[in-house]
Amino acid sequence: MLSFSFSYPIIALEREKMVEKTMDLDDFRVKPGSKVNLNDRDTSGKNHFNDDKESGQKALAEYKEDIARIQDVLYAEHKHRLLIVLQAMDTAGKDGTISAVFEGVNPQGVRVANFKAPTLPELDHDYLWRVHPHTPGKGEIVVFNRSHYEDVLVVRAHNLVPEQRWRKRYRHINEFERLLHDEGTTIVKLFLHIDSETQRERLLDRIDTPEKQWKFNPGDIEERKLWPDYMKAYEDALAETSTDWAPWYIVPADHNWVRNLVVAGIIAETLKKINPQYPRPVEHIEQYREKLAQPVNK
Ligand code: AMP
Ligand code: MG
Repeated sequence: MLSFSFSYPIIALEREKMVEKTMDLDDFRVKPGSKVNLNDRDTSGKNHFNDDKESGQKALAEYKEDIARIQDVLYAEHKHRLLIVLQAMDTAGKDGTISAVFEGVNPQGVRVANFKAPTLPELDHDYLWRVHPHTPGKGEIVVFNRSHYEDVLVVRAHNLVPEQRWRKRYRHINEFERLLHDEGTTIVKLFLHIDSETQRERLLDRIDTPEKQWKFNPGDIEERKLWPDYMKAYEDALAETSTDWAPWYIVPADHNWVRNLVVAGIIAETLKKINPQYPRPVEHIEQYREKLAQPVNK
């Protein structure tokens, strides 16, 4: 089970004094079997960090270093697999989180799988058919940017399949994730939680900012009208599928610095728990130094 706490240093206003503040990642984890009420869940998260953005960014930089360093070992060892599932309402920042947290990580060994509306051949199969091939191989980290959860979220909000079908999917998903876990994949699932007012501001920003206009999709306005249906669908998905083997975390995402810090913290601590090791070198590696001393024919 991924229940851990970690601490990061906050530089107090009195510069000489380093204060140790503890943020418990368990605060964000959805306990298996518990109910979820998203209205009660903080979307700001600033209080967790005393509204101290400067220290938060310093801590983020440290987590990013941890992630880059451990990913290098994970790749070299070629043993463990890490799957990170990202889900969120439009504009909550799935893309921004990926670039902020994984910049500086060797792209070798890290992959992002995007799940858009299914194609016709995909619709001809069961909903997990298109998902399984994208799961991480040994030594890999894969980020699902949307995922099989859309099949109990957008599918439910839009009544794309009858309830008797989507209801069974929580069980399928738990079993599917258990299979991945049993075969050696660590799974972490992150729901980036924003307030609907934050979404409104960000959609307006997309209209107002020339570099962001390409992201504006009029369909998002229609989707927004279904906000309560989506929240209900998320609440059920989070409650039904947060398990010991594949826990959900609800990440406050109204502020990018908080969101990135919490996500990076969860991923860094998960990697530390996996604790990969560089493979043993070949036997008697020293002898090869001598062999290298001999010149090659040019
Ligand atoms: P975006 O991530 O904003 O580029 O949009 C991708 C779109 O694909 C979203 O509107 C999702 O709701 C949609 N989508 C992803 N997976 C599914 C699915 N299984 N069924 C229906 N729509 C989906
Ligand atoms: Mg979109």
